[in-house]
Amino acid sequence: MDTTTPIDQQHKSRPQARVLIRLRKDAQMRKHYFAQIPRWRHPLVGYLLSVPIVGLAMLGILLIKLFLLAFSFPGVLVFLAVVVVALFWGVGPALFSVLLSALGLDYLYFPPIGQFTMFSLPGLLQILPFVVSGIIIAIITGQRESARLRALFAEQAAEDRAADLEESNQELEQVNQMKDKFLSMASHELKTPITAIRGHAELTLRRLAKQKEVPKELIDVRTALERIDEQTYRLQTLVDDLLDLSSIRSGKIALELSRCDLRDVCRGVVEDQQLLTGRTIELELPSSPVAASVDRDRLSQVVSNLVSNAIKYSSEASPIQVSVRRQEQTACIEVHDDGQGIAEDQLKKIFETFYRTPDAQTSKKSGWGLGLAICKDIVERHRGYIWCQSEPGKGSTFFVELPLK
Ligand code: ADP
Repeated sequence: MDTTTPIDQQHKSRPQARVLIRLRKDAQMRKHYFAQIPRWRHPLVGYLLSVPIVGLAMLGILLIKLFLLAFSFPGVLVFLAVVVVALFWGVGPALFSVLLSALGLDYLYFPPIGQFTMFSLPGLLQILPFVVSGIIIAIITGQRESARLRALFAEQAAEDRAADLEESNQELEQVNQMKDKFLSMASHELKTPITAIRGHAELTLRRLAKQKEVPKELIDVRTALERIDEQTYRLQTLVDDLLDLSSIRSGKIALELSRCDLRDVCRGVVEDQQLLTGRTIELELPSSPVAASVDRDRLSQVVSNLVSNAIKYSSEASPIQVSVRRQEQTACIEVHDDGQGIAEDQLKKIFETFYRTPDAQTSKKSGWGLGLAICKDIVERHRGYIWCQSEPGKGSTFFVELPLK
């Protein structure tokens, strides 16, 4: 049973349609090319004209022999004839003119004159160098035209591919925009009910907490409410992250740039995270200010995300290190942990939306794979770079490089 949907079929038929269009274009181009060639350059005309052209060359040779005794290479005239025929009419007529020239030379030029000797071995050996070099000249010169034709087709094919790629790019861009729009709309719609569910769950939990003795039948209800609260909190972070991502990507949120000391930004984040998690975070700062033009809240969001990831993906006993370095034109913020690390092939993917490493997916550490995508967007909007160096088992270091001016 064919289970393909009309959309599947549409997707499948698109590349086929493109191939068909390209084949048609090739055929049209070939027709157009041959239509452009003047009639007198048709191969048949070449075969016919080979006779007088070779004849003229032979006549030239005889005249040279008669009047210009000092001319050493009269045979060059027949080569000239072969080249002319090959240039205008291609390989076939050129080979025909080689044959005609060989017969002419044999009969009129090589002794004994007035006889064909090429059908005996000594005669054949005499004419062979001319025939071989004539054939080579004919093929090389004749191929020039087909090479030109091939180059023309290749150029056209490259142009077509570029146009196809452009079209596919536009389609992808459109689909991407639709996806972003859908995510943004869905998140907006989900935000209100999730907040309401969480609000009710928390309110009821608070009421239950106020009761001195919770009746037995309500203990299960409390556990259920706590789960609801936990899960709706997860959903709320997802919705918030999605909304954040879509507003950053669509440029709805303008950066509020101001001159900030990056040391203060990092100090603030480290203090908050230490208070929140109780983890040891070592901070290494230069003695003089590192001022850059940044959106302070957004940059704090980036550092906070990196530090909370470092905390989340490393063991509780290990310390986290945060440092700020001033470089020539840029400043670099580094967040290091001694956690499980990230495999080389996953390093680039971790900045993609919804990507979580297989280790993270199988662990109990919750997350949606959106934090680093948001960080990347924020850093890039500051004309900066974000990347990670890591080795499995040896921890990870995340770098944020920002222009100082
Ligand atoms: P998540 O919500 O899953 O933490 P992020 O976008 O912040 O999403 O991170 C994407 C993925 O990158 C994580 O799921 C995890 O696999 C990996 N990752 C991020 N930071 C670290 C880190 N410090 N150590 C190891 N893996 C990390």
